[in-house]
Amino acid sequence: MAENNTIFGMILRGEIPSTRVWEDEHCIAFRDINAAAPTHVLVIPRDHIPTLNDITEDQKPLIGHLVWVAAQVARQEGIADDGYRLVVNCNDRGGQTVYHLHMHVLGGRDLSWPPG
Ligand code: 5GP
Repeated sequence: MAENNTIFGMILRGEIPSTRVWEDEHCIAFRDINAAAPTHVLVIPRDHIPTLNDITEDQKPLIGHLVWVAAQVARQEGIADDGYRLVVNCNDRGGQTVYHLHMHVLGGRDLSWPPG
């Protein structure tokens, strides 16, 4: 496993605070510090996977779990029925700034399409 020197590694280790809304043996979810919508939660695996490109075949069940958790978080946040969006940015042109795989759960307002 690659060393996790990202800000999310620090959040996972409890070295910097975050507002957690979900926690289990595989992942945590916490509120984005710079919310882009009334609900903006990040779901991250405990394993350090830098980007979407680094997911290995044996990690496919973990990715399914992250998507399931994102849906549970949406329900918990009360945005499931109105609708919401899951976003995973990959590398520079995809807008990724933190190199620890994360899924954005965005909702609580109308979301335009296509994204910028
Ligand atoms: P990316 O641009 O990589 O897809 O998303 C990274 C996200 O992490 C951004 O939405 C940013 O606001 C959020 N973020 C960056 N640093 C922190 C932090 O220290 N705490 C929390 N809660 N979110 C952070």
